[in-house]
Parts: sequence; C-alpha cells; structure tokens
Amino acid sequence: MAQKAFFYDMTRCTGCKTCVFACKDKNDLDLGKKFRTVYEIAGGETTRDESGVINTTCISYYISIACAHCDNPACVTACPTGAMQKEKETGIVRNNPETCIGCGACVEACPYGAPIIDADLGIARKCDGCRDYIEAGMTPVCVAACPALALRFGDVEEMSALGERISVAPLPDAEVTGPNIYVKPCRDAQPAGSDAVAVINPLEIELGWYEPFKDLV
Ligand code: SF4
Ligand code: SF4
Ligand code: SF4
Repeated sequence: MAQKAFFYDMTRCTGCKTCVFACKDKNDLDLGKKFRTVYEIAGGETTRDESGVINTTCISYYISIACAHCDNPACVTACPTGAMQKEKETGIVRNNPETCIGCGACVEACPYGAPIIDADLGIARKCDGCRDYIEAGMTPVCVAACPALALRFGDVEEMSALGERISVAPLPDAEVTGPNIYVKPCRDAQPAGSDAVAVINPLEIELGWYEPFKDLV
C-alpha cells in the first residue's frame, strides 16, 4: 500500500464546515474537540492615491485541514514514549492510546494544530485518515460528506497529480514537515509566510466549536 494523501480543491470549498461536523460525528467528538478545522482567511487594504482615488483590495479564502500525515512528522519526533508513529504501509500517522501519556508534546510540535488533548481520556487524539473506513474500501467521512466535492483521499501518486503540496498562508511552508495534502489553490491564496492575510475565526480554531456558547447549548 502506498502513502495516503488528501487532495483539497480550494476553488470549490465554500467554507460550510460539513467536513468538520462529519468528522466529529464519526469520531464521537464532544463539544470543544475536533480533528478537522476550517480556517477562514481574509486580508486586503484600502488606500487613497495622490489624486484622491480610493483603491480597495479584498482577499478571502478557506482552508479545510486535518492531520497531513507528514513525510517528516514533527509529532512523532517529539513524542517521548513512541506512541505517535508513522505506519510503514500507508504513511498514516497514528497515536497508540496504550502508550500515550497525554503530555501534549505532539500538540506543541505539530505546525498544523492537528493533535488535541482529550482531557476525558487523558491522551492525544487526531485524524487517523478514517483508517477503519479505508481498510473496508470506503471513503473517509469528511471526503464523502463535502457537498462541494472539494476533498479527495487516496494514494499520494494520484493526489499529487491533482495539485501542489499545500504551502498556503497561514500554514507553514511545505518544506517544514512534508504534508501529504495536495491543493488546487484558489485565486486569492497567499503563499506560506505571507503577512497579507489573517485568520478571522480564531475562537473556533483555539477553543473548539461553539465553546464560548457551551452554557447555552
Ligand atoms: S500534521 Fe501534525 S500531527 Fe499530523 S503528521 Fe504532521 S506533524 Fe504529525
Ligand atoms: S479522514 Fe476521518 S478522521 Fe481524518 S479528518 Fe477526515 S473524517 Fe476526520
Ligand atoms: S465540507 Fe467541503 S466545502 Fe464545506 S468546508 Fe469542508 S471542504 Fe469546504
């Protein structure tokens, strides 16, 4: 079996987050826990030139991302117990719940914010590529659920033929860990390292889904 990879078509993504909720449902992730994230990215400026003409630019795009099952996974390097491992056959990076001590070293190390600490279980958890589904010949649920057909999952040779390795701001340069996510960038997509854009849904990213409103749910 070959290295597995995602393909993500930024030109199709509408930012609906169905992928996030489908993943939460399959993995029974409670409030504040998620394996997939949709970043809302925006930028632009308004200027007035010497003749008084006002120019406005607008940059807007989404990035739907989960664990990238990297070629050089920083989480595996950082894990002090060897619980985080990259499978030889599929390249999927998995956490062994039997040996994970929940120290959070992987969370700190991952530049994609992929692992989370599940305080209820006392271990780190993250996307496993819907391993049970793909072993049964099925599609990961985030891919199957996307109404815009923006996500695909398969062998890296097939996915890399569809696009380029993800290196889009505010994510890190692909050189850092070699993410196995290939994208078709949208027109507005800015290169990794660009300071022309910012994340405009930071509460969702940092606190988890609707965490600020948890007392109201
Ligand atoms: S995205 Fe993060 S958690 Fe996933 S393999 Fe890469 S470094 Fe590890
Ligand atoms: S592949 Fe499965 S576990 Fe990974 S983000 Fe998609 S639904 Fe979640
Ligand atoms: S379900 Fe598809 S269109 Fe909606 S946010 Fe996810 S990747 Fe984008």
